Amino acid sequence: MVAPPQEAFLRIAHDVILRLGTILDLPRLIAAIVQETRGLTNCERVEVLLVNEEEGILSLSRSEGVSLYAEYPAVTAWKAGNLYTATTGEYFILAKTDAFVGLPLHSESKFIGVLLLENPGSLQPVPAETQALLNAIAPGLAILLRNARQHSETVKSLDTRMFELSIFNQIDRELSDTIDLPQVFDMTLDWAMRYTNANAGSLSLYNQNDDELKFVVDLGYESTPEDMAMLRSVSSGGIAHRVALSAFAELVPDVMTDKDYLELSNSIRSHMSVPVTREDRVIAVISIESRQINAFTEDHINFVEKLAARAGVAIDNARLFTETVREREKLSHILAEVADGVIVVSEDERIILINQAAIAAFRLSPEPDYEGRFLSEVVDDHDFVEVLRATTGLKNKALVEIVLPNGNTYYVDFSPRPDIGWIIVMNDITPLRKTDQLKRDLVATVSHDLKQPLSVMNGYLDLIQMSQKLDTRGEGYVRMIVRSIHNMRQLIDDLLDLAKIDAGVEINMQPVPIASLITDCLEGTKRLADAKAMRVEVDVAPDLPYVSGDPNRLLQVFNNLVSNAIKYTPPEGTIHISAESLKNAVRIKVKDSGVGISPEDQARIFDRFYRVRRPENESIEGTGLGLTIVQKLVEAHHGQIGLESFLGEGSTFYVTLPRHEDN
Ligand code: ATP
Ligand code: MG
Repeated sequence: MVAPPQEAFLRIAHDVILRLGTILDLPRLIAAIVQETRGLTNCERVEVLLVNEEEGILSLSRSEGVSLYAEYPAVTAWKAGNLYTATTGEYFILAKTDAFVGLPLHSESKFIGVLLLENPGSLQPVPAETQALLNAIAPGLAILLRNARQHSETVKSLDTRMFELSIFNQIDRELSDTIDLPQVFDMTLDWAMRYTNANAGSLSLYNQNDDELKFVVDLGYESTPEDMAMLRSVSSGGIAHRVALSAFAELVPDVMTDKDYLELSNSIRSHMSVPVTREDRVIAVISIESRQINAFTEDHINFVEKLAARAGVAIDNARLFTETVREREKLSHILAEVADGVIVVSEDERIILINQAAIAAFRLSPEPDYEGRFLSEVVDDHDFVEVLRATTGLKNKALVEIVLPNGNTYYVDFSPRPDIGWIIVMNDITPLRKTDQLKRDLVATVSHDLKQPLSVMNGYLDLIQMSQKLDTRGEGYVRMIVRSIHNMRQLIDDLLDLAKIDAGVEINMQPVPIASLITDCLEGTKRLADAKAMRVEVDVAPDLPYVSGDPNRLLQVFNNLVSNAIKYTPPEGTIHISAESLKNAVRIKVKDSGVGISPEDQARIFDRFYRVRRPENESIEGTGLGLTIVQKLVEAHHGQIGLESFLGEGSTFYVTLPRHEDN
């Protein structure tokens, strides 16, 4: 049993502990304990043996130690908390003599080490008094050692953590900067090998759908290029494949014992494979190998797993980027082929995209890269930029006809696109404009050439009638010819009118008083109305505002409507013409008490050449072009035309025309 320490020894112990208490660094503390103890005891050799729990030894240093489970009487005594004095002839590996004394150090009832004393020079035993002194200082030393040990462990784990953090910091930076897929592979493998001190390694991509594993990069193998090429083509088997299937990292301390091991180099002894996953799918496997047996640790797995998580994100990003680039290239190929000019500009008017057709339209050099430059700097067309600014100011879609620097006429569509800016599509309408001109020329020529022979025929008919006395039958024939010529002239006029309107009517806008227009119309149709004994009523408000329009064209509109009313109303019917003022327009109504139009026919009477086929209309002549012309003319005046009609109850056609603005 241990004797209770004397008071003097307790005081000495107290002083020693105070002196050493400030040392937190373990090696320094051990050195100081050794020095103090030697000073106090005059022993030649003092050592601190520490318990290494992980390895289960009591050691002087990491490499030299005695198993805690070995049957040494000294170790047994120490574990029980007893001071041990060696007996003569006893061998203990950590001692130099068989006259050593070992004082166990216990902290919180845990065996943490031994203070070993002996005199290898003089071979003198350690005096009993010294042993009593040692008993007094042992508890204090144990506390100091435990604290220093905890401190150094904390520092060590902090150091490891800091080291790891700084490495991952660097890895994160490098990986997130990389959008090049092969580079991501290279970097990942390189980091994994460096951290684990591996001799060789590979990274393979895994396709879960086809269960196919493909090498994409390998480092450190000494095989011939041919052999490597062959091995790279292997798409299944091996430890990596096993890991791809299980999605769990594996350590193989000795590859000779693993039936799945695929030999890439005969000097390899240990292997480690870690899966790279994205959204629960294995997308790649990192494999590293060493020429040493059992070279990899749990710590290595932890590191490579963290690395794999980052690599997964980087691989995804790089793939996405490659895909985006590919999509972009596809788009620009398509746009290059498109005949329309396309420009995309950001909200601050920088060019995001401009295609070949647009470059040609602005007569720009095809070489330079225009992306990122201001549109106003690139296109030297003040009008174009002005229009863009006007429309961007409105934040609305706009369609504008502009002549661009290449001399062609374009319909330019400016469309706002949220989060992008503006998409400008330019459609070259020069050919259309040329066709319009051709049409106009044709109309003018044909008009003249067709009407000419009709005038000649008319002239000769007059001559026949004047030069010869015709019998009743002859006069009948002549009347028929005259009427046919009249109809034909009417048809030609209508056709020409329509052609003109189709080619773009030029409306000569001016203020038109509706009242006098109606008077003119009724004067022109009076003969027709009188022939059928029609009642014609007019109801026009006296203070009617002027409408905006071309008086000749508007007269044509009302002539058509009134003559239809007369034509399609039986004799002695009523025609009522009225005009009223609306807010910004004037509405004119032409109402008759005629045959009326069925709903099906109402939908078609504005079509070219459409005529209603009914017995009561049979004898009425016409071409079916009148209402077509009326509708087009009204639209050209920015007006509207409509009707209300019931079979047998007459029809009402109404026309709404915009008021002249100066009213
Ligand atoms: P034209 O070209 O000589 O005017 P049209 O009078 O036959 O020939 P439209 O004026 O276009 O041709 O009229 C088309 C058809 O609509 C007519 O054939 C007629 O059947 C019907 N229609 C037009 N106005 C009336 C009306 N007021 N009452 C009844 N039917 C009408
Ligand atoms: Mg008509």
